[in-house]
Amino acid sequence: MSAINYEIERKAEELQELENRVLSILPTFDEYAAEEPDGLFIQQWSEPKCQCPECHYPMRRRNDMILASFPPLYEYQCMHCGRIEYLTK
Ligand SMILES: [Zn+2]
Repeated sequence: MSAINYEIERKAEELQELENRVLSILPTFDEYAAEEPDGLFIQQWSEPKCQCPECHYPMRRRNDMILASFPPLYEYQCMHCGRIEYLTK
């Protein structure tokens, strides 16, 4: 084997090694899909927003769910009696 062929072979091995190293660091597609979004932590419930129309205890909004209606609706729930209401904000 000539010196040039030897060099090409060596470079190809280096590249292959680098590729293997990158692949060993990267998560699989399914692992990546299951991760939390970068720098975005969604709190399931908001701080208390208003009074429950029934018992006047605080109502909180669900932040992790929006109803796919038009317009989109947020779910609010009373922290005391559990009453659920829907609002566009
Ligand atoms: Zn209530």
